[in-house]
Amino acid sequence: MPVLVTSRAGGVSAPPFGGLNLGDHVGDAAASVEENRRRLAARVGMPVRYMRQVHGRHVVVAREPGPVPEADAMVTDVAGLALAVMVADCAPVLFEGPTAVGVAHAGRVGMAEGVIAATLAALKELGATPEELAVTVGPCVCAGCYEVPAPLRAEVERRVPGSAATSREGTAAIDLRAGIVGQLTTAGVANIIVSPRCPAENAELYSYRRDGRTGRFAGVAWLGPATP
Ligand SMILES: [Zn+2]
Repeated sequence: MPVLVTSRAGGVSAPPFGGLNLGDHVGDAAASVEENRRRLAARVGMPVRYMRQVHGRHVVVAREPGPVPEADAMVTDVAGLALAVMVADCAPVLFEGPTAVGVAHAGRVGMAEGVIAATLAALKELGATPEELAVTVGPCVCAGCYEVPAPLRAEVERRVPGSAATSREGTAAIDLRAGIVGQLTTAGVANIIVSPRCPAENAELYSYRRDGRTGRFAGVAWLGPATP
């Protein structure tokens, strides 16, 4: 039940998307995105399914390659199909269970809307309980970099306790990692890995907050053998 997180490395896109941009909705050349996606599929040795992400909490059960669903999470209990979540500051959250895996797109809005709980519920329907999951919270914008207006911080804190934070400048901020880990813990997940990498501070990763017009990296999860 492996997972991986991509970076700019190994891709063909030209600046400002330089590298392995997997987003087909950001203005990059379609042929470049297609080649980058082909390379990712070759790396994991199976088809990769993407979503049209809308900052919601809808979860799709994916069992074969098919049309791109409008969703912010996918789960599967089928081996040989990789699920991808595209990000550039939002958290890619990757769920690994013995018989099912999932991916979720959790930024400020999706986290507050409950995409994590919705994904856990979908995995439970596929037989994977929170207690047996390993969950990776991949690279996302850190609290130090994620300044927001104070009223917004308060509103998100009301919905996601523990997410209120202070930025490096001492202003109101949101801690996506803390908020998501709190939601996972409350739901009964104990095995949680949190990436310390912040896209806004790491040139190897795409960051919308830093660059605006830029690409998307991905978190990927699949059932089946690990990739070399
Ligand atoms: Zn940061």
